[in-house]
Amino acid sequence: MRFEDQRLRLLEDLKAGGITDAAVLSAFGDIPREDYVLPEFKEYAYRNRPLPIRAGQTISQPAMIAIMMSELKLRPSDRVLEIGTGSGYQSALLASIADELCTVELHDSLSLGAQKILRAAGFKNIYFRIGDGWAGWEKAYPAYKEFDKIIVSAAAEEVPPRLCDQLAEGGIMVLPVGGNISQILHIIVREEGTLKIRQDYPCAFVPLVKKIK
Ligand code: SAH
Repeated sequence: MRFEDQRLRLLEDLKAGGITDAAVLSAFGDIPREDYVLPEFKEYAYRNRPLPIRAGQTISQPAMIAIMMSELKLRPSDRVLEIGTGSGYQSALLASIADELCTVELHDSLSLGAQKILRAAGFKNIYFRIGDGWAGWEKAYPAYKEFDKIIVSAAAEEVPPRLCDQLAEGGIMVLPVGGNISQILHIIVREEGTLKIRQDYPCAFVPLVKKIK
């Protein structure tokens, strides 16, 4: 089956799984996942599964990305922070909806690979940083502003405090919190200065490597 047809089938799977957000579905229809997986896994690109990428990491499962992106309630005006650039696939989905994406990756080989493919794909609204996601986008950076949305693609044993500091009023953060084997997705909203946390969806992500507290 052609990749285009496989992509349409993935869209049907996502809809059947309860995804209704039109922007999220249209992003999945636009971004070619086969470009972000290892060459030897291209034929499996549209399985609704995580797949291995370089540096012992994984490209997340489409169904999980779709749930997280729906929970973010993405708007075209959003400034988004992504922790765990990885393959760059989710970065492409996010940047195709939001105004600006800042993405942080620990492994330089992964970040550089993602930078190459996302630039080749024509994205001009993505800013890359190689470094520790526990620190977020560092207030010391020029033009630092708080984020409307924050998404973390690796599992932390606690909610990283510096990410909470970088969430704007009315902002939403989605992240897996728990141990190495399994976690619960946390959806955090900053309302009138306080953080409201909802826990939903069991999940299994690679660990958010602990660098700083
Ligand atoms: N969204 C990516 C998911 C990659 S898996 C995709 O779909 O391809 C999670 C990523 O988080 C890995 O690339 C891993 O290297 C990265 N990561 C783990 N700990 C990190 C940390 N402390 N800071 C930044 N990135 C981290």
